[in-house]
Amino acid sequence: MILPDSERDSLILIVDDNVPSIEILSALLKDLGDIIVATSGADAIKLAEEHQPDLILLDQEMPGMDGYETCRALKANDETRHCAIIFVTAHAGEDLEVDAFAAGAVDFIAKPFNAPVVIARVNTHLVLKRNRDALQQLADRDGLTGVYNRRYLDTQLTTEIRRHHRQGQSLGFAMVDIDFFKAYNDGYGHLAGDDCLRRFAQRLSGMLRRPGELVARYGGEEFAIVIPHLSVDSAEGFAQWVCQGVRDMALPHAFSDIHSHLTASVGLAVGVPPNGMSARELTSFADAALYEAKSNGRNTTVVNRFDRQVNE
Ligand code: GH3
Ligand code: MG
Ligand code: MG
Ligand code: MG
Repeated sequence: MILPDSERDSLILIVDDNVPSIEILSALLKDLGDIIVATSGADAIKLAEEHQPDLILLDQEMPGMDGYETCRALKANDETRHCAIIFVTAHAGEDLEVDAFAAGAVDFIAKPFNAPVVIARVNTHLVLKRNRDALQQLADRDGLTGVYNRRYLDTQLTTEIRRHHRQGQSLGFAMVDIDFFKAYNDGYGHLAGDDCLRRFAQRLSGMLRRPGELVARYGGEEFAIVIPHLSVDSAEGFAQWVCQGVRDMALPHAFSDIHSHLTASVGLAVGVPPNGMSARELTSFADAALYEAKSNGRNTTVVNRFDRQVNE
């Protein structure tokens, strides 16, 4: 079972063009989490993208990009829209509050600061954020294996396709399907089959090395791996490494036609995603490669360089 990263300390981003304000807030909140700071809206967005804070305390009045504009930008950005935002304002009033909520804030704090109120509000929102994250983790995960589910995979894949297209970078997407799993179930029983799926998922997850890589259960005994920035040259090596990793589990499979232990076939699609490519299209390229690996006798890998096919 993959545990959510709820063990990490909360991360609070304080954004204010006024450094003494930042100092006061940092001192008040130091026991509630780790603190990072920015003195402009633009820096706040950059930091938020990089560090994914749980909570952002956002000064409403700043030169250049003000709090509202920053808030709207954070909420429109896939990488930062999950951060809870509290407005910090010297001009509390109903209109401003309405505007703050409309921009996507969850609360607001008045200047000058009333210490116990600031601490209580920030704490409340950190607890809410933790609970929301925990629920989200449950909604995103496959119940049996604990890896991500199909729904989450589709969303992430769409984001990664767009990002890699924008950056002109090559993206890898692998489908990994257990060989002769029906025979495994029939031979060892369905509960042993479930256990095998859990161990298999754990093995794949344990093979992830870099941020952004993810394993999902695509369905049944078929899993998917998203590998950001996988180069075309290292694709074959990656696919074989996964295939070998499954064999290295050394899980007996007496009912397999091809091996004494559990094996899997890997179909890997790789390339720079063309404009408008959908998650479904990318999946179909990986699927075609997987189909070929199965036809080639299973326990093997096929790499499909889709950017060649698409652009030709
Ligand atoms: P191939 O080598 O061509 O991939 O053959 P296969 O037997 O692995 O594939 P097939 O699609 O024929 O069978 C998949 C089996 O996976 C059938 C189904 O009962 C089993 N399965 C799917 N989901 C689960 C599950 O959640 N638990 C268990 N125990 N078995 C499952
Ligand atoms: Mg200000
Ligand atoms: Mg199978
Ligand atoms: Mg299958």
